[in-house]
Amino acid sequence: MDSVYLDNNATTKVDDKVFVAMRPYLTNHFAHPSSPHLLGTKVRQKMEEARDLVAVLLGTTHPDEIVFTSGGTESINTAIRGVLAAAPSRRHIITTKVEHVSVLNLCRHLATQAYRITYLPVNREGMLDLEELRKSIREDTALVSVMWANNETGVIFPIKEIGEIVKEHEIIFHVDAVQAVGRVPINLRTLPQIDLLSLSGHKFHAPKGVGALFVRRGVKLSPLVIGGPQERMRRAGTENVASIIGMGKASELAPIYLQEEDTRVRKLRDQLETGLLKQIPLLRVNGTRETRTPNTTNITFKGLDGRKLLKTMEGDGIYASSGAACTEGKTPSHVLLAMGRTPEEALSSIRFGLSRYNADGEIDYVVGSLRRIVSHLRTIINPMQRAVSQ
Ligand code: PLP
Repeated sequence: MDSVYLDNNATTKVDDKVFVAMRPYLTNHFAHPSSPHLLGTKVRQKMEEARDLVAVLLGTTHPDEIVFTSGGTESINTAIRGVLAAAPSRRHIITTKVEHVSVLNLCRHLATQAYRITYLPVNREGMLDLEELRKSIREDTALVSVMWANNETGVIFPIKEIGEIVKEHEIIFHVDAVQAVGRVPINLRTLPQIDLLSLSGHKFHAPKGVGALFVRRGVKLSPLVIGGPQERMRRAGTENVASIIGMGKASELAPIYLQEEDTRVRKLRDQLETGLLKQIPLLRVNGTRETRTPNTTNITFKGLDGRKLLKTMEGDGIYASSGAACTEGKTPSHVLLAMGRTPEEALSSIRFGLSRYNADGEIDYVVGSLRRIVSHLRTIINPMQRAVSQ
């Protein structure tokens, strides 16, 4: 087996159909989408088709609610900073302790600019206490920003219920759906509570460096990037045409593959999880198994150094991760710490993120390989453990 890629929460393979859709816009059809001549108009038309496709994927009938960006981080920054700039008297933000760093570090930065931030805690399963959310709402709360699905554990938050609480007040609701798009159904028509929603192309088989922000009609948002009149004055700069067209194609494909994510990919993830738990002692799954993205499992390998484990797995051609790609497993995951794990437990944890590109036969290979590797590493740490770990 050449390699088994199990790091799909970090990034995904570009679908061949996506690449084929993009190619002409990197070669022959290179005109500027804002040029009024025929060549430019044709490119614009294709870009607008991509906007329609993203809108359909999200379940909105208004393509003008889609703003193209450079990815999840920019969408999130545009949403949060844009709302705050449009409502300067409101200085309070509510988010959670387990958000991606693109939200957490932005909030930390905003705290230095006289904003107050409430970080909602999660329980040992990674779930929020909605009463805590209710209690934390203040007169000057500008926005609530929560993730749909966690990038490290796959845990899904009850977005509808959260939105209903938020909408008892005049507060903007932003959802970071970067890990949810393409993995769980999203229908903004049935979720009128959501004002803003961020997504990123490279998490659902489109290229890196492209994303979108859904901005519901009527939501007041100041632009983050100022310059030309692109994206209805909500995001200046020449659009990343080919990647946008690629993301349009990926959006068209996503509902077709969603069924596969929910059945075959889920089955593979469950096989991997049960296989590992059955064959290797002292393992624990992090995050509720009730509501998780179908492709993710996060497992603590008690007593082992996660980084060492990952390095050894690489020797067998298996690629997973110790949490968010951005932190590289050097510091204990803030998500697992928030879930009450000790720093040692957090550093012993591995995130496996599957996709439709994983073949059925890969799972047995990974389970067998990890069984051997863990047994070996535990023997090195403590030769007396040999008996337990085999
Ligand atoms: N939000 C979540 C939950 C993520 O997992 C990521 C990326 O890993 C981001 C935001 C940032 O997205 P991007 O890499 O497109 O900037």
